Amino acid sequence: PVVTRFAPSPTGYLHIGGGRTALFNWLYARGRGGKFLLRIEDTDRERSTPEATAAILRGLTWLGLDWDGEVVSQFARKDRHAEVAHQMLARGTAYKCFSTQEEIAAFRAAEEAAGRYPVFLSPWRDADPATYPDAPYSIRMRAPRTGETVIDDQVQGRVTIQNATLDDMIVLRSDGTPTYMLAVVVDDHDMEVTHVIRGDDHLNNAARQQMVYDAMGWDIPVWAHIPLIHGPDGKKLSKRHGATGVEEYQAMGYPAAGMRNYLTRLGWAHGDAEIFTTEEAKRMFDLSGIGKAPARLDFKKLENTCGHHMAMADDAALLHELTAYMVAAGLPALTAAQAEMMAKAMPFLKSSAKTFPELIQKAHFILISRPIVPDEKSATALDTVSCGILKILTPQLQNASWTKEALEPILTQVAADNGLGFGKLAAPLRAAIAGKSVTPSVYDMMLVIGQDETVARLKDACM
Ligand code: GLU
Repeated sequence: PVVTRFAPSPTGYLHIGGGRTALFNWLYARGRGGKFLLRIEDTDRERSTPEATAAILRGLTWLGLDWDGEVVSQFARKDRHAEVAHQMLARGTAYKCFSTQEEIAAFRAAEEAAGRYPVFLSPWRDADPATYPDAPYSIRMRAPRTGETVIDDQVQGRVTIQNATLDDMIVLRSDGTPTYMLAVVVDDHDMEVTHVIRGDDHLNNAARQQMVYDAMGWDIPVWAHIPLIHGPDGKKLSKRHGATGVEEYQAMGYPAAGMRNYLTRLGWAHGDAEIFTTEEAKRMFDLSGIGKAPARLDFKKLENTCGHHMAMADDAALLHELTAYMVAAGLPALTAAQAEMMAKAMPFLKSSAKTFPELIQKAHFILISRPIVPDEKSATALDTVSCGILKILTPQLQNASWTKEALEPILTQVAADNGLGFGKLAAPLRAAIAGKSVTPSVYDMMLVIGQDETVARLKDACM
């Protein structure tokens, strides 16, 4: 069975790169009936904060990436890490090193001064235990000194590292705390992770981690190191390109399904498929579709993708997500009557909106109440002539049956009688009903707010 995991360090918000890594792991597991686990790599006590963990969980939840089981804390597993370090000692694949920080620093300085890359070789590697001093020691891995380590990566291909370039890394510090490199391997092994899908900034770590697997005689997971996300200009993504936090996109009002689709396509392709549901993405996602070159963020494409998902969304689900967005944005909650009108209007509101702010903009006529105060531009449409025409129209609307089929001939006739094109009649109607000059169709609005409200707004407009 497939087991994937997302293993963020809780030192800040959930970056879209992290969100995408989590998404790829989630898709891979969910598409194969596997498990997706979440591990918080909080061993760095100085930089890890509970706020960051909370922000990461919120970001994942918004993206709809549910994890299996409890959230694992790496720090809480430190005794297990130490235990494995001692098992390595017992297996002879690690040794006690009594070199002090000062000795190592002096060695490094000397090598660098001599123009060499410093690979520290501990003098304790082959020392006779009888010569061990009674002093603190760290535990170092007895890494192979010759030959090469080959990472068989599903994205990067075969990556070869000369063993001679790697030192015997410390797995347990002299204070008894595990190093990150050990902790990751022990956790992935214990959590029975079968596929490690993560950013290619960890590719170099994979060689050292693979040595730990070998040292313990454990099965090596499938590696897939994905290229980082770049900005539209091809440079490493940074704040100056725009938003980098998952929650920033949520705050901008992108629908989660659209964001998920966009992130799925960011560095992964399946033929020419661009727009797909999450169910389709789960079925299609594979490691062979991940590109070797860094994907570039494309805000236009994000908007288009989100527009498609708005239009595709189930009306009730979209209303639910809209409501959550409005609460988070600090907008007044919808009244029951407004919610009912929103539900009715959803088919046309969602048809051309790419974000929730755009949808709210279109729904303005629902969110306002009488008396409608037209904005400056639309107010000019309510001149004496137009008001005269609205006065002819209003009593006819009062007696009409409230369907588009019944309303259309009435409006068309009134326009014709007054020698106007329909557009000229629509302008004062938009002003009276919505207080704006750009609105959804006049019929759509009238049908949503209903007969009494329409008549009342028209009467108000030209008092
Ligand atoms: N904690 C690491 C990070 O946030 C990820 C480690 C891993 O995926 O193996 O970059």
